[in-house]
Amino acid sequence: MTKSKLTKVISRLDEHFGKPFDHTKKPPEILDVLIATKLSQNTTDKSSFKAYTNLKKKFGTWDNVAKASEKDIKDCIKVCGLANTKARNIKLMLQQMKKKYGTLELSFLQEYDDEKVYEEFLQYDGIGVKTISCVLIFAMGRDAFPVDTHVHRVLNRLGLVNTNSPVKTFEEIKDKIPEDKKYELHSNLIKFGRNFCRSNNPLCSKCFLYSLCKYEFKNENRKLKPPVKVTENNFIILENL
Ligand code: SF4
Repeated sequence: MTKSKLTKVISRLDEHFGKPFDHTKKPPEILDVLIATKLSQNTTDKSSFKAYTNLKKKFGTWDNVAKASEKDIKDCIKVCGLANTKARNIKLMLQQMKKKYGTLELSFLQEYDDEKVYEEFLQYDGIGVKTISCVLIFAMGRDAFPVDTHVHRVLNRLGLVNTNSPVKTFEEIKDKIPEDKKYELHSNLIKFGRNFCRSNNPLCSKCFLYSLCKYEFKNENRKLKPPVKVTENNFIILENL
């Protein structure tokens, strides 16, 4: 991967998607981010945001969620799918944290450096590197680069990495992204992956990164009849907590 290619990708994404969200301003609580990320697994950001606001409205605090029945939690979050599993996992995680720290107010973790935050949260079932990177960005004002399926797919198609899993993509690219550009690139790659470089039927004929792309199965013959406007879905739950 050439540095100049990565710089061009970052700059064209910026031009298209505009000024990135300022993740250092008015951060949500660490648990807000952890729970919103869990809710957003295998569903859209819009439906997981609805589930998140339902939980907040009904229970008020995460302490109350920890004490609630799984059924009551499930009723609140059924809008986002996999409600049984998510209700069980969220309640279990909250109870484990309460037991370990004596509180669900986790701001003491601000004292930890990034590596120590990764180590701390990796001890919990169902919390992986991607989720912890989201906590670092959105709740702790750090610069990190979570790799989800969109980010993994797009970076491989562009030829910026050559890997077969999001974890390997993270390892291959994390030290090559300029300082203070990590979150911005992450957010724009998600938007780009949702709206242009989709898993099936990528909109190659409308793609502003076409000349930089190495993907051998480009969808070159796809014709969009006029009007050719792409309706974009750029809602990211963690930017709205
Ligand atoms: S040209 Fe197609 S495959 Fe390549 S980045 Fe653009 S949308 Fe994705």
